[in-house]
Amino acid sequence: MKLLRETLAEAQEKGGAVGHFNISDLVALKAIFEAAWELNVPVLIGTSEGERDFLGPRQAAALVRALREEHQFPIFLNADHTHSMEKAKEAVAAGYDAILFDGAKLNWEENVTQTKFVVEYVKSVNPDILVEGEIGYIGSSSELLKEIPAGAAVRPEDLTTPEQAAEFVKRTGVDLLAPAVGNFHGLLGEASGPDAAGKNLDIVRIAAIKKAVNVPLVLHGGSGTSDADFREAINAGVSIIHINTELRLAWRKGMELGLRRKPDEVAPYKLYSFPLEAIKKTVSERLRLFSSPQ
Ligand SMILES: [Zn+2]
Repeated sequence: MKLLRETLAEAQEKGGAVGHFNISDLVALKAIFEAAWELNVPVLIGTSEGERDFLGPRQAAALVRALREEHQFPIFLNADHTHSMEKAKEAVAAGYDAILFDGAKLNWEENVTQTKFVVEYVKSVNPDILVEGEIGYIGSSSELLKEIPAGAAVRPEDLTTPEQAAEFVKRTGVDLLAPAVGNFHGLLGEASGPDAAGKNLDIVRIAAIKKAVNVPLVLHGGSGTSDADFREAINAGVSIIHINTELRLAWRKGMELGLRRKPDEVAPYKLYSFPLEAIKKTVSERLRLFSSPQ
């Protein structure tokens, strides 16, 4: 079975990116796995601290590992947006394959120091676990938004520079880097389609950052990004793309449809087939695009 590091390198060689999708229950995990399985492309599952607390970090790791081992399939688990050493340790102990230490809201030096501590700890326990660092605050809510998150770095002068990226990677030793390149978490208004407006990625900046660092780049807040922007971002050097809000919307709409269609149904799994299909459709569309950007 290939390691996550090898899986990412392989995806990059093929000119594609790996999709990262968040879960807080088995319905979403099943939907994402089925979509990836049918397309035969690797996939990353993410749990934020909130999603992890709900699902249980050990339970999440056991579920993903069970799918990987039973089907000999490249599905991996990332501890998304981890804000403390304590939470990073918890994810390592639970068996996560990757950890995003998110110090983007800290000042620069504090972010460098804390990220480096986490990298050193994780590598001392298991060098195969990948650590991602984040620079540039891009909001923190994977929900429907009325406006761009307050304080998010989306103006050209606030985006991550190639110099910052190079310095951060060098000083922290991270395996993966999430820069601010015009992306932000959440989804503006009702925009949920693949061509929804609102996010404008700076492709030139992505390419410049990619040239400056020797680690895979991660694009957060992918929901609501146009297909064209995704294609260009992958060609410019993005290796992992995070989608969460679109799945949450699909879940909600799927549940509502199920309850409408089967108003008297009480068997959960018969109702869950609706959100499952809705999430699976969203994931399939995204994975198809990410795995063949041309
Ligand atoms: Zn994120």
